[in-house]
Amino acid sequence: MTRKEQAFQLLESMKEEIFELGDRLFSAPELGFKEEETARLISSYLTEKGILHEKGLALTGIRARLGDQGYHIGLLADMDALPVQGEEGPLTMHACGHSIQITVMLAVLTVLKKMALMEELPGRISFMAAPAEEYVDLDFRRDLIRAGKIRFPSGKQNMIADGAFDDVDCVLSCHISGSEFFRFDVGSSLAGFSAKKVIFEGRAAHSGVAPHEGINALHAATLCLQAAAFLTQQFPLEAGIRLYPILNEGGVSMNAIPERAVLETYLRANKTEDLFLLQDKFEKAARHSALGLGASCRIEHTIGYLPLKQSDALNEIVYRNMRTLCEEDMIEKNPVSGASGDIGDVAAILPAVQFGFSGSKGRVHSRDFEIADPHRTYMDPARVLLGTLIDLLENPELQVKNPDYLSDKAAYLEGWLLQD
Ligand SMILES: [Zn+2]
Ligand SMILES: [Zn+2]
Repeated sequence: MTRKEQAFQLLESMKEEIFELGDRLFSAPELGFKEEETARLISSYLTEKGILHEKGLALTGIRARLGDQGYHIGLLADMDALPVQGEEGPLTMHACGHSIQITVMLAVLTVLKKMALMEELPGRISFMAAPAEEYVDLDFRRDLIRAGKIRFPSGKQNMIADGAFDDVDCVLSCHISGSEFFRFDVGSSLAGFSAKKVIFEGRAAHSGVAPHEGINALHAATLCLQAAAFLTQQFPLEAGIRLYPILNEGGVSMNAIPERAVLETYLRANKTEDLFLLQDKFEKAARHSALGLGASCRIEHTIGYLPLKQSDALNEIVYRNMRTLCEEDMIEKNPVSGASGDIGDVAAILPAVQFGFSGSKGRVHSRDFEIADPHRTYMDPARVLLGTLIDLLENPELQVKNPDYLSDKAAYLEGWLLQD
């Protein structure tokens, strides 16, 4: 029997246990950096399997390791749920399927442990459960940052900054795709984003008696809205620029010239270069809109996530393993997604993949979301991951790394996380 056959047989024998673990995790939805029960479930499962692990990674995250030398593969899974609109008000739910990722990775890790694979082949596997991927509940995160408990808004950003990936060579992850047609997707991009808040300041005056003595901050904000609309035309369509500003404040009284106006917007782009270019162009447009009318402005920047660019080399291996489960036309190749995730940040410094799997029903991020086909949601991605891991460990020539990791990480910290 080959190693893959042995792994799949072990996986199959754990099926009921995997589905049950999946149910338990799905029934414990928690928002980012509040994943206490999820962490407890993961920890007790690992303990039961005799797998050493550490807790408290970026507050609620967990890391477990197998093997102690050689090529180091990170198995990364999200822990958090998100708020959705329920029938009777908002509720917290695993409507992005993150509980599935955790279940799949724990199953994979258990199979590897049972096979004692790391005693046969040199290599290291680190399972990392990462908190807070969904970009929500930001006031809570700002409080945590102020209290010095975390430094950045997302789990993986803190993990990167804390050095959790410093000895890792590559990262494998997967995510529910929500597709009703394709069984898998491979090589998907994700958009990157950041947010800007512009506070325009002018001077109040009586709008009937002496409007000319005022400086209308709303006019400056209006000019900026116009400029933002024009800016999108300075990028090719495939850059995926999405710029939909909202005006939050535009004056308090009709008989006064507004002295303050506030505009907020996400900046989205498919590629990192374009995101930085957009940030720069938008800032210039805002400043000059203010300047042009004699007003001034302050710009507050909030980091989001970098666009995702996956490793082609790793995806080739992933794709080959998907093909053992289905035909070519059941695999969507290189879809362009307008969604975002902090896996984009990880992939900026390490070779990484996040392939998509199916088996859900209802829209992702809505209360209709449900796990309809547990074989597809749990067993499919677990098999793809096991196959990919075994290929990587058996064939050193496939083992990709980033030789410039340290300088890339430094540039990432300075140019992205710590930009002002
Ligand atoms: Zn999501
Ligand atoms: Zn998600």
